[in-house]
Amino acid sequence: MHLDLQPRYGDEYTSHNVIADIRGSEKPEEIVIISAHLDSWDLSPGVLDDGVGVAIVTETAKRLLALDERPKRTVRLILFAAEEIGLLGARAYAEQHGDNVRNHQVGSESDFGAGRVYQINARVHSRAWPVIEQIAAELEPLGVTLGNRDASGGPDMLPMRALGMSVVDLAQDGTYYFDFHHTKDDTLDQVDRRDLDQNVAAWLVFTWLSANSPVHFGSGPNLVPQ
Ligand SMILES: [Zn+2]
Repeated sequence: MHLDLQPRYGDEYTSHNVIADIRGSEKPEEIVIISAHLDSWDLSPGVLDDGVGVAIVTETAKRLLALDERPKRTVRLILFAAEEIGLLGARAYAEQHGDNVRNHQVGSESDFGAGRVYQINARVHSRAWPVIEQIAAELEPLGVTLGNRDASGGPDMLPMRALGMSVVDLAQDGTYYFDFHHTKDDTLDQVDRRDLDQNVAAWLVFTWLSANSPVHFGSGPNLVPQ
């Protein structure tokens, strides 16, 4: 076997996180982050990583805007820049907003392709766990079960998670994800629209109930998720 590998870094340039807020009606200073990342590897269109993530959370925001009622907390849609080369957009966000971690109710990123959501995991204060159980109960008709208490939140949530932000995973079926991940085959024909619909439904439930919960999820430097 002969491998001809020619990876290289190009010139530096500036890219930007894209952020949109749906302002909360009662606690606008408190934020629920829903996110994905805009960049992808050069050799493919980057549909699964992370075009569908962008589609899922943007559609979630769009459907929230279509409701007559606004969420009580602010829902912040973030499309991160420069994830693939080291979470640069996410680190920049944490640098700018890290001292406001307490006002971040919870955050999550969709960054594992287009497979169906099968489980919700959460890293929140113990007093908020019953809320996670309620969210899981609402997700049950979608085929989603309650998982563990050690969510990562997704790659771009890690810098804020390290500062104590509560995070949730809507864990997706990744059976075929790594057949296409970071290859030229990461293309639109890998996406089943019904699975995307199921993702959006799950994200809507999670986002709405987190934004409207009377319970603060416990984000802060002393978050102890037990
Ligand atoms: Zn990704």
